[in-house]
Amino acid sequence: MFPVPDSLRKGERIFRGIPVSSGVCRGRILVLRRIRPNIEIRKLHQDEVPAEIGRLEQALVQTRHQILEVQRRVSQAMGAEEGNIFEAHLLVLEDRTLIDEVIRVIKDQKVNAENAFHTVAERYASTLAAIEDDYLRERAADMRDVTNRVLNNILGVEPEVDLRHLKEPCIIVSHDLTPSNTAQLDKQNVLGFATDVGSRTSHTAIMARSLRIPAVVGLQNGSEEIESGDYALLDGFNGVVIINPTDQSLYEYGQLLRKQVTLQERLRDVQDKPAITLDGHRLLLSANIETAADTAEVKNNGADGVGLFRTEYLFINRGRPPGEEQQYEAYREAAAALSPMPVVIRTLDLGGDKFMAHNPIPQEMNPFLGWRAIRFCLQERDMFREQLRAILRASAEGNVKMMYPMVSGLDELNQANALVEEYKAELRAENIPFDENLEIGVMIETPSAVIVADSLAKRLKFFSIGTNDLIQYSLAVDRMNEKIAHLYEPTHPAIVRLIKATVNAAHQHQIPVSVCGEMAGDPVLTPLLLGLGIDELSAAPAVVPSIKFIIRRLKLSEAQALAEFALSCESASEILGRCQELAREIAPDLFEAKEEYGGTPPPAS
Ligand code: PEP
Ligand code: MG
Repeated sequence: MFPVPDSLRKGERIFRGIPVSSGVCRGRILVLRRIRPNIEIRKLHQDEVPAEIGRLEQALVQTRHQILEVQRRVSQAMGAEEGNIFEAHLLVLEDRTLIDEVIRVIKDQKVNAENAFHTVAERYASTLAAIEDDYLRERAADMRDVTNRVLNNILGVEPEVDLRHLKEPCIIVSHDLTPSNTAQLDKQNVLGFATDVGSRTSHTAIMARSLRIPAVVGLQNGSEEIESGDYALLDGFNGVVIINPTDQSLYEYGQLLRKQVTLQERLRDVQDKPAITLDGHRLLLSANIETAADTAEVKNNGADGVGLFRTEYLFINRGRPPGEEQQYEAYREAAAALSPMPVVIRTLDLGGDKFMAHNPIPQEMNPFLGWRAIRFCLQERDMFREQLRAILRASAEGNVKMMYPMVSGLDELNQANALVEEYKAELRAENIPFDENLEIGVMIETPSAVIVADSLAKRLKFFSIGTNDLIQYSLAVDRMNEKIAHLYEPTHPAIVRLIKATVNAAHQHQIPVSVCGEMAGDPVLTPLLLGLGIDELSAAPAVVPSIKFIIRRLKLSEAQALAEFALSCESASEILGRCQELAREIAPDLFEAKEEYGGTPPPAS
């Protein structure tokens, strides 16, 4: 049990949110109150106006230097891609429309720089924050982050808490934690953090996972109700913060931590072993990545390669798309780092909920049914050409494969393949090497792709089932909408049968099928997927050891019996129940950190 001073035993309070970075920590809370610089309005004389514009410009330059410094430190600590998050911040500072408007307000209304800047920037941020879109809300957070820096610089004040130098270990609680706050965290002293707002896709959550700091977001009003100095337990597995935990809670978490340590040791034991069942069936177990830097995690977690390289992350948070060279460098780096293991690069899947900072995609009524993925690429030919050439060139440097997302029929496949042939001819003419036998596959993410899977299979080298989208499109359940999350059922009989139909079509044409959606990262569902005949699973690097662990404790015959039951069953909950039963029976140790297991949560993209 952990020692807790008596003075801190004030009665347990439990706050629940969304788990975004796993792990458990305990310690004192430091609440970061929202620091609002005091923005007074001061009327200017005409002759004061130039000096006021000078104050603004000086603060903008100073802010730019600070952000470049943060970016440099983040790139050093976490890799260039994480550093790129700050590109969006730099773009705010370079936004001429914003700055010219601030200058106009100073000149026309004759008000001080901080007041003009605050008024204009807050209007921009509130407009973004009001749009029902997680991505744009995150951009509002970016905007406010930069705005606060600029205001502090105009006013010449230091932020209240310097997160780089904390005096003692603590759990940070805050309304929000901006990307630049997160990047500055003194990792030695930050045990974990919790915020009132945020989602799994927020930059802060992404960074928490990269830094491996346990984190919970979406506590709603935690930062108002929790006090600095409170003693707390933060459970990043289940999304729980317990203030003034009772002896019983401390004991239970102490037990859980001990089990976690034992489990981690067991997982480490299987890490370098193959994903093979007790009766000798070998599965390919790959990892999903977003940046070339993630390849280190692929190796550390003992994956057999990359089954899904989501290339959108090279594009989002950026003012302009990365060109051919920049993409080539990223793809080449990943391919070379993992060679001879395969790296499946997915062509751009922009649209839906993923956009560039300067978004070429207009607002749509149904973005997930709209101008997205392969549909977008086939029309934005220049951008697609740069990407296809970059992937082809990288194929000379390792074991690269390529797949198209959200294909709904043969026509899109034929058009994309024709472009690939055209760019191969260009590269040949330029004497630039590439793999002439580059394998091309498609993601099976739409019901129509499953129905015409035999036509697709004839023309392809592999399928990869994107269950995140296949579930949303087949069950007509928006994967981002928490109100209908209970309808998002990976074990729905329709999904089980669609997966089986895809496997049948692929195997008839002797091509392998992978699953790279979140279903592949859920150990409860591993036996079902194996039993349905899936040849490869590709999941987040951190969950690869758990999936391998369960595969190595399973018999293919047990998995096949489960799949046979699922194919004949008419109820999603019964199928899930059987999956849970089998998984818990063969690998109980995997499920002890979750207080209550409800199946696969709806995935964030
Ligand atoms: C999927 O849809 O399952 C998938 C892997 O693609 P994304 O989550 O990027 O849409
Ligand atoms: Mg998808």
